[in-house]
Order: sequence, then structure tokens, then C-alpha cells
Amino acid sequence: MNLHEYQARDILRRHGIPVPPGEVAETPEQARAIAQRLAGKEGRVVVKAQVHAGGRGKAGGVKLAKDAAEAGEHAARILGMSIKGLPVRRVLVTPAADIASESYVGIIVDRASQRPVLMVSPAGGVDIEEVAAKTPERIHRLAVDPRYGLLAHQALGLALKLYRDMPQARAAAGIMQRLYAAFYAVGASLMEINPLVTTPDGTVAALDAKIVVDDNELERHPEIAALRDPSAEAPSEVQAREAGLTFIKLEGSVGCCVNGAGLAMATMDLVKYYGGEPANFLDIGGSSNPQKVVDALRIITADRSVRSILFNIFGGITRCDDVANGIVQATQQFPMTVPLVIRLTGTNEALAIEILTKAGFSALTDMDEAVKQAVAKARAA
Ligand code: GDP
Ligand code: MN
Repeated sequence: MNLHEYQARDILRRHGIPVPPGEVAETPEQARAIAQRLAGKEGRVVVKAQVHAGGRGKAGGVKLAKDAAEAGEHAARILGMSIKGLPVRRVLVTPAADIASESYVGIIVDRASQRPVLMVSPAGGVDIEEVAAKTPERIHRLAVDPRYGLLAHQALGLALKLYRDMPQARAAAGIMQRLYAAFYAVGASLMEINPLVTTPDGTVAALDAKIVVDDNELERHPEIAALRDPSAEAPSEVQAREAGLTFIKLEGSVGCCVNGAGLAMATMDLVKYYGGEPANFLDIGGSSNPQKVVDALRIITADRSVRSILFNIFGGITRCDDVANGIVQATQQFPMTVPLVIRLTGTNEALAIEILTKAGFSALTDMDEAVKQAVAKARAA
């Protein structure tokens, strides 16, 4: 789950990281009032789009205002924008800092080392992916041993890659240790400060924060789960979560309805192998519930780019007849405007084929054949 910048800033602040104050506005008038309150009528503020996307600065979603009136004007413009397809519903208004330098500090869960890895770079402010591609030597990494956490000397060693000035390095090292504590406390899979700035008077502060929380941690952190903003997520993904489905929207035209994450991945691979593009990842799960199939089909058919729908079911705990019943129920509830290719095998397969045949569908047992047909039908449509 992604957090908004203002939510991430609150978390960092609670963990003792210096973050400038800020408040969220939904209208230009609110933005102007906040600017006046935080920086005075003539004080400079920054108005920042709150969307789940990086590179807001480049997209025009981060604007410096010379006074409260201009903050209102910037807010009006930014509140009407979409950034990477995401409409901006809120802006953060924060007093502008004078920037002397910008660096990057981040922590991710690294699969290769199976540890949290702290990454820092003196080349902050810009996309870290760009730094990694063009000047990888400017990124410094440290895999943290979770038994001991981030030790003071390790943090200072990394901080000295950012700052030569000792008081600044010490400040940055403290921020890194607090960031690591925050990372653990909320169950994050990613935490980023970009930019971590120094100001002309030598202060170190975090001006932007990004946090991604591991969905599997949410049950342990209800206070973090409560920060979810469904209005900032793809509607289909929200519907799927509410229906208990694991769903990720993709860009292709072959809708996929599969049971089990492994089979879903294999199905997507095969769709690509036969020249198609999956429209989604969808795992209806291991349970036996026709309603899940109905919900899945409702979500997939609502996607305009879907040209064919492929069912790939390997019946085990999931019973094929339940899936077949779900398909038939769905066709009774809403029109099926794209061709359906159904492959099922395993538990109660014969019964499923009987149910489908009665309803005018046919079913295949061979996975390759089903994928080929689904790709061909998506092409022909
Ligand atoms: P992002 O583009 O989505 O990563 O948004 P950021 O919050 O990182 O802002 C982008 C850039 O705007 C930063 O790298 C800074 O250069 C600039 N910026 C953000 N806040 C301030 C501020 O308080 N003062 C100044 N002078 N520049 C800022
Ligand atoms: Mn940033």
C-alpha cells in the first residue's frame, strides 16, 4: 500500500526526523489560508500535489509560491491536474526551505541479501533510477543485519559519503537510524527521503517522503491500514480487494481469471509467449465460491481494453463446478460482450463441463490450446 507524502511526513516526524511543517488543502482558498498561517502573508511556501506518483516536480505538481496569494493560484492549477493518470485531489502546503544541497536516502527490502538495504546518494532530488543507470558509483549501499539494526558507526560511515561537514554528517546519520526505526515500526517495504537537503545555515531536513507498506503487515498495523486512500487507487483494484481477490491491472487485452498466484504467473507468461498481452493479474484464490468468479468477471468486463477473457482453473480445493456456476451466474447478471475461453481441469471437472455446456459454453482441458485461442480472439476483436 502506498502512502501520500503528507502521511509519510507525519510518520517520519513522529520518529524524530526533521521535516518542515505542512498541511493539506482541497481547495485554493484552504491552500491560501494554510500558507498564511505557516509562513505569513509574504512568506514563501511550496504547493505539492498529493498523488501516488514520483516525479511530481517534473510534471509541474510541485510549485514554489512567493506569498499566500500565489500559493492559492498554484493550488488552483495543481488541483485541476492529473499526474501519470492520477487526478490530484489534495495539495500539501509547506513553508519553502532554502536549499544548499540535495541528497537521497532510502531503505528497501532486498530479496537478494534478504535484508533491509540502506541506500544513499549525494545525487539527490532527481530520480534515483536515473542515478543508478547513469552514475551507479554515486549510490552507496549497506545491507542491515536485522538482529542488530543500523549501528551508529555504520550510519555515520554512510553519512560521510553525503557530507564532509561533521555536524551535518552526524545529523544525517541520526536521520538514517530514525528512518530505519520507522521502517521497522510500520512494516514498510520502501521508505525514501528524496531530497534530504541542507540549508545555507547548515541544517539537514527531509523535504519529500515516500513510504510503501507491505500489504501483509497491515493486519498488525491498523493505524497504518486506516491511512489507505481508495480514491487514489485504480477503481478496479479497490473493487477486487473488497471482493477478496488478488488483482493487478495491466495494460494488455487478454483478461485472465486464474486460481493460484503461481498458475496466474504461468498463464501470463504463456499469453506473452503466444504473442498476447495480459490485461490483468488475477488470482481468485483457493476457496470455492462462485461469487468470487462473478466479482472477477464484473471487474474484468468493465475494462474497455479487454478483448477476450481466459479462464485457467486447476481444480484442487477450488472446485471446477463452482467456477462454472460462477461463470453462468455472471452471464445472468450482466452482458458478456467479449469472447470467453475456458480451460479447467481437476476436481469436479466433468460436472463443470456439463454445467457450461448446458449454458452454451465449451471448455478445454489443454492450457496451451486455451491460451492460443484467447490470444487469437483478442487479436481478431
Ligand atoms: P517529486 O518530484 O515528486 O520527487 O517531489 P519533491 O518533493 O521531491 O520536489 C521536487 C523538487 O522540488 C525537489 O527536489 C526540490 O528541488 C524542489 N523543492 C521541493 N521543496 C522545496 C522547498 O521547500 N524549497 C525549494 N527551494 N525547493 C523545493
Ligand atoms: Mn522527491
